[in-house]
Amino acid sequence: MTRRAPTGRGSQARIAGLGVGLALLGRILAGIPAVVEWHRTEFFPRVAPLLQWASGGAKGTVGEVVALCLIVSAIAFALARRTRALGGLAFGGGLLVLAFYLSWGLAYGYPPLAGRLADAPDLDEEASRPRLAGLAGSSARLVARASEGALSFGGSDAAFLARVNAGLDEGFTRWPAALEAAPVRGIVFGPAKPSRVSFALSRLLISGFYFPWSGEAQINAEMPRTLWPRVSGHEKAHQRGFARENEATLIGMITCLSSHDPTVFYGGALGLFVGLDRELARVDKEARRRIWAELPPRVVSHLEAEAAFWKKHEGAAGKVSERVNDTYLKAQGVKSGIGSYAETTRLILQAVATPGLNLGRLLQAESARAEVPRTPVQPVR
Ligand SMILES: [Zn+2]
Repeated sequence: MTRRAPTGRGSQARIAGLGVGLALLGRILAGIPAVVEWHRTEFFPRVAPLLQWASGGAKGTVGEVVALCLIVSAIAFALARRTRALGGLAFGGGLLVLAFYLSWGLAYGYPPLAGRLADAPDLDEEASRPRLAGLAGSSARLVARASEGALSFGGSDAAFLARVNAGLDEGFTRWPAALEAAPVRGIVFGPAKPSRVSFALSRLLISGFYFPWSGEAQINAEMPRTLWPRVSGHEKAHQRGFARENEATLIGMITCLSSHDPTVFYGGALGLFVGLDRELARVDKEARRRIWAELPPRVVSHLEAEAAFWKKHEGAAGKVSERVNDTYLKAQGVKSGIGSYAETTRLILQAVATPGLNLGRLLQAESARAEVPRTPVQPVR
């Protein structure tokens, strides 16, 4: 007995060391450009369909159930074996970290979308303020006209989300192949699903998340439904290998604006307006006040309901969640951390100037229509 204990500790340490080694391997692979490029062009396009095959057809979230089973098993294992469980738990943890990097984490190193979009003038330049105010004004007119469409936020969660998913799938068919993060054309991605832990997501101020191990896009089903299209689009952009938050937000919004479903289109128009309005609030408060004064009451009430929802859930849990997310993003090489969510405005300006996206055409049309009678809104093609 006296000899077994040290041997047991030694083997525990070896197994734990192996686990740490697996996690480190993932981190090291993420830092090698040639591996990241191989992952982008070869590995990810092969793994994504497998994950979608495994989880895409299931009605509810698969990853959350598997995660719960793993957590319960780990706790049972720890209680049963106490200190002798440490090696196994560390090994399991290392395996999960490596699986994270291989299934998706390496996508943080893919070439930035900004490099494939047209250039845009620097936001800090004095001269760009009127341009930003002009675009925000056009996006306000766009969202105002979109709000006059046949919007439908009714029905069960499942029925509404099915409509949102159909609209997004249609929108994604118009996303140019040349702007994809990885060659994923032809892969059928599973739908955005309501998270089973939406109650917790609300308290953590999380609108949705992508579960890399199962390839599932999940949204917080407690949010106001006006948020569902653009958040679902954001999480579905993650599925395609767009890891960075500002890129996923831009793609989610443009995909909504490429849909013929009036409700999905309106969700995208809201997102576009919010993206420009946030930056305008920083650089030109007076222009912003004028624009808000012109917004229809329906749009204002939707935006207020969205803000009120998050305000209601602000608290300690939200602050911790924000800090954890910030640390996570920085660990993945996103220097600005959670600040990257707000960096969407610059990408919007670039997308407006990119001919293949027609976002500029949509806003120009609003600008031109500003003084003429209103006509039905057309989605981006
Ligand atoms: Zn995201």
